[in-house]
Amino acid sequence: MDEEAVEVDHSVTSMQEGHEATCWGCGLRLLLTAYAPIFKCGWCGAITQQNQTSRKPDSVCFSHWRCVRDRSLVAILLFFMFFVISGGVWAVYPVVFSISYFCGVFHCIVTAILSIITISSFFLASFSSAGAPTNILWGSYPVIGKNGLENYTFCAYCTKPKPPRAHHCRSCKMCVMDMDHHCPFIGNCVGAANHRFFVAFLISIVISCSYILVMTIYAGFRVWPPLKLRTLVAYGLNSTSALSLVKEITAAFASSAFLLSARGLLLVYLAFASLSVEIGISVLLWQQLSFIYEGNTYINSVTSPNAVHGERGWQNILRFFGCPHSVFRILLGPTNGGKSQNNSNSKLL
Ligand SMILES: [Zn+2]
Ligand SMILES: [Zn+2]
Ligand SMILES: [Zn+2]
Repeated sequence: MDEEAVEVDHSVTSMQEGHEATCWGCGLRLLLTAYAPIFKCGWCGAITQQNQTSRKPDSVCFSHWRCVRDRSLVAILLFFMFFVISGGVWAVYPVVFSISYFCGVFHCIVTAILSIITISSFFLASFSSAGAPTNILWGSYPVIGKNGLENYTFCAYCTKPKPPRAHHCRSCKMCVMDMDHHCPFIGNCVGAANHRFFVAFLISIVISCSYILVMTIYAGFRVWPPLKLRTLVAYGLNSTSALSLVKEITAAFASSAFLLSARGLLLVYLAFASLSVEIGISVLLWQQLSFIYEGNTYINSVTSPNAVHGERGWQNILRFFGCPHSVFRILLGPTNGGKSQNNSNSKLL
């Protein structure tokens, strides 16, 4: 008890007699000058929120709904990817093989590579752990040591220490290191361990959609013999008004065997679907790369928009994609990696 009292005094040397509180991290009783809802322990560095109590687990309905939503969206996305790959192969490949055998084989190889990269990055992002914090001993000051829980907070859901850059996800029911957001389309959090796979998945979708768009437009024009541009121009020149030109175009479309065929409909659908998916995913990818460049995450930008999150620059992008350190130094010169520490929690004090 005497030893503990010494340690309490040591940790609060700058404090005067006042409000007494207990640090959750090391269990020491601290003397605060006045009541403070949030304070930092001078010994272990843990941040205590005084009125925080352990949270009740989410209701069964809530957990079930999130689980069903995530699994449904993952199943729909997987089905859509297989539908686009198989439908695209069925609709486009007769055209490319009709050009030449070499052209057909070349596009088979390109399709196989894009499909394997997209599906494997999806599975890696979806089914690998997003990054659980390492278990750390806590609750007793001799085992913690000085600054052993620097800027740690207490997760009221997990009832254990939460590292400075971690957030709790109620869908995954765990704390996630460097959590960016919970993505229902992969049914998983995007965090420190799978963020690279998630961005690789977005990049592969953008490239694949561009390829699908080009190939479907090309195949559409190749298998659209009833619609002749020259015929349309001739109709236009002979017509007396724009209305008659529109009527002729509509008639040409309506009589087109292309639009009446399943292959034609699928080509039109794939072209529009790939274009809209590409636009949406490009915006998401741009947002992700911007946050990585700034050394920030989406959830941090929402929860603490004014906090300083670290050094911004291209070194963050290179570090994110695992650029070898030698190449890293050649491209950017020596950098101070230590500046990237997140001190957002210190503003609480
Ligand atoms: Zn402490
Ligand atoms: Zn937690
Ligand atoms: Zn999650």
